[in-house]
Amino acid sequence: MTLPLITVTKQGLYCKAGDFYIDAWKPVELDLVTHAHSDHARSGSTKYVATAVSEGILRKRLGQDIDLQGVEYGEKIKLGETWVSFHSAGHVLGSAQIRIEHKDNVWVASGDYKRCADPTTEPFEVVPCDAFITEATFGLPIYQWQSGAATAKQIYDWWQSDLSRPTLLFCYAFGKAQRVLAELRALTEQPVYLHGAVQNLVETYRDAGVEMVGTVPVSEMERKYKFEGDLIIAPPSAHRSPWMKRFKHPQTGFASGWMAVRGNRRRRGYERGFILSDHADWPSLIKTVRETGAKQVYVTHGQNDVLSRYLSEIEGVDAQPLETLFEGETES
Ligand SMILES: [Zn+2]
Ligand SMILES: [Zn+2]
Repeated sequence: MTLPLITVTKQGLYCKAGDFYIDAWKPVELDLVTHAHSDHARSGSTKYVATAVSEGILRKRLGQDIDLQGVEYGEKIKLGETWVSFHSAGHVLGSAQIRIEHKDNVWVASGDYKRCADPTTEPFEVVPCDAFITEATFGLPIYQWQSGAATAKQIYDWWQSDLSRPTLLFCYAFGKAQRVLAELRALTEQPVYLHGAVQNLVETYRDAGVEMVGTVPVSEMERKYKFEGDLIIAPPSAHRSPWMKRFKHPQTGFASGWMAVRGNRRRRGYERGFILSDHADWPSLIKTVRETGAKQVYVTHGQNDVLSRYLSEIEGVDAQPLETLFEGETES
C-alpha cells in the first residue's frame, strides 16, 4: 500500500514528495495553479507555476509582479522527487489538469474541466493515471449540457426577438462571457457592448489570439445613446445595481449551468435563463473517470458525495469525497 501522493491540508492540496501545493487557499511557498478563477488562484504565495497561456490573466488577478513560472502544456518539470506536467482541462483560457509522477505512481488533479467544445480554450486531454481528483460542481444526473453553439443560438434568437429595447445578458466575466462572444461570431457581425469587468478580460483573451465578435465598452458610449436593439454583456454582480439605470426597460437573461434547475431563474429575477457551463456535466464526469483508467478517485466541489457514491457502487472504482474550499460556478 503506497501513501497518497496528494493530501488535503489546512493550506490546500499538498504533495509531500514534490513539496508543493495545488490551488492553495492560503499563502504557501510553492503553488501550482490549475486556472485563474478566484477559488483556485489566490494571492500571497511566494512562487507560482501555471500554464504560460494563463499568465496574462493570473497577473491581472494576483498582481503584475508575482513570481510566476509559465510552462507549456505537456512540458515536464522536476519538483522534489516528482515530475510534474500541465495538460489542457478545456475549462477556460489556459486552464490545466496537473499530472504528478512519483516512482510508479501517477496522480492527476483536474482543477475544473469540461468536455464540450469551446472555441476559447484548448480541448480537454485525457491523461491516464492511477488516481484522479475530479470536480463535481454539476455532479447530479439532471445536469446534461447541449453544445455551446446551440446555447449561443438561443441567446441570439432571444436578442433578435425584441429590437425595441436593450438586451442584457448576465454571465461570469471570466470564461463564460468570452465563450458567448466567440460563439456569436457564427451568427452576427454586430458589435456587443460590454460592462467594464467583462471588457478587461476580453482584451486578455484577444491578446492570446482568441477570436470573438467586435466589442465596445458601454462606458465609451454617449450618455444619450439608448442601446435599443443592442446586446450588452455584464457580470451577475451588476444585475439590479445602479449601473443598470443606464438601460431603459431592458430584457434580462442569465447564462449559467445553474439555469438547468427550475426556479433558479425566477428566484434570481431574470426574464430568461440559458444553460451554459464551463464545468463537466454528469455524463462527462463519468465518461472522464472511465477514460483516465484511475482505480482511485477523489471528488471535490459541489455534489462530491453523490458522484463518489455512484462511482463506488455502479462503476466499481474506489471513490471518496475530498473536502476542499473550491466553490464551483459562483457569481462573483
Ligand atoms: Zn474554474
Ligand atoms: Zn473550481
